[in-house]
Amino acid sequence: MILKTNQALAQRDLAVLWHPCTQMHDHETLPMIPIKKGQGVWLEDFDGNRYLDAVSSWWVNLFGHANPAINAALKDQLDNLEHVIFAGFTHESAIKLAEKLVEVTPIGLTRCFYADNGSAAVEVALKMSFHYWRNQGRPAKTKFITLENSYHGETLGALAVGNVPLYKETYAPLLMDVISVPSPDCYHREAGESWADYSSRRFELMEQTLQQHADTVCAVIIEPLVQCAGSMRMYDAVYLKLLREACDKYQVHLIADEIAVGFGRTGTLFACEQAAITPDFMCLSKGLTGGYLPLAAVMTTALMYQAFYDDYVKLTAFLHSHSYTGNALACRAGVATLEIFQQQGIIEKNRSLAQTMAKVAARFHDHPHVAEVRQTGMILAIELVKNKATLEPYPWQERRGVKVYQYALSKGVLLRPLGNVIYFMPPYIITEDELILLAEVAWQGIQHAVKE
Ligand code: PMP
Repeated sequence: MILKTNQALAQRDLAVLWHPCTQMHDHETLPMIPIKKGQGVWLEDFDGNRYLDAVSSWWVNLFGHANPAINAALKDQLDNLEHVIFAGFTHESAIKLAEKLVEVTPIGLTRCFYADNGSAAVEVALKMSFHYWRNQGRPAKTKFITLENSYHGETLGALAVGNVPLYKETYAPLLMDVISVPSPDCYHREAGESWADYSSRRFELMEQTLQQHADTVCAVIIEPLVQCAGSMRMYDAVYLKLLREACDKYQVHLIADEIAVGFGRTGTLFACEQAAITPDFMCLSKGLTGGYLPLAAVMTTALMYQAFYDDYVKLTAFLHSHSYTGNALACRAGVATLEIFQQQGIIEKNRSLAQTMAKVAARFHDHPHVAEVRQTGMILAIELVKNKATLEPYPWQERRGVKVYQYALSKGVLLRPLGNVIYFMPPYIITEDELILLAEVAWQGIQHAVKE
């Protein structure tokens, strides 16, 4: 009989697998945790230990693991159609999901192009933007503007428009040149300055860059409201409003990467709603399937679509494809996810859940090694520093966040940090008691990590 314990499975895993975003050497001391099952916010390993999934399994899970409604929808889909080529053929779940996305995304986004992960969606948006200008007779537009500290994925195009040095620097010689503008990230605002004032002030740098480079720029790509992989840094919606106006003025597209912030994370279904703007492209993934299956969508306008729509021989078509485009199982999970939003008043319920998050995290503000507790909707981040007065960070080599992670695991909480930033980004079905537990374990974990 094959032994199925944590240790036995971890050993088999480490013999053949290579995990994402991991220095595999770490697993000489950090245990690999094999998960047997998930239920709601809880994951259970092969030794019977349970972990509260406080990071929604990399921000994808919205309504819990093994959600009954999504499970039922997928079982039904499985009995009918698992997948079909998406060129020349279509299916009901893909159509339904696109119809629903057109309905719920900002007004004017009337076209849906599917891809199969977030990075691929970013590649699609970049290519579509460039190709639009080319089809319009403006081939000189070849560049992209991006924000410092931004993150848009790991494929070469997506990595190029991202800006987190840890992920990017190694591959710099392979990447296209982009124009980087300082971020509106409010962590650096002056004492007493509001988020709105700081973000508006920072917009001047973007305005100058647009003015200077508009003739050669296709688009500005941005993570609306929260730079998630960039340490959950946050800024005010006024920046998005100003950016939309400036993009119109300088004839540059606006690509909103809502891969992480979409589907309710910032308190509204989409972050762009808080600035009442419609981007030219909106990239969606992660929560799109409730955390079940890889799928992405790029939503765009009729104007974009029409610029590609012509006789074949004009060669203006968008010939981008992925084998699993519009996967039927993934689309069906997406439909079930949006039905939960619509039928269960999730955005409304999240308002009080976000308040509870703020309440349980209130004690962290005064912690001697917490520089800032910041929150936008259902995302709450706690920034650890060596010196609270000067904001001097802990040297990254000390890996204080990993210490919190390890401690929290030993207490049954999955709190994977971003460097020295601990954050809560839980599934929306988390209860008040579970939030209290999460905060208590985070507190103890931080106490443990800042010792000596
Ligand atoms: N954009 C943003 C804002 C993201 O947070 C991520 C993933 N963390 C991506 C793009 C890339 O998505 P994926 O990991 O599915 O390629």
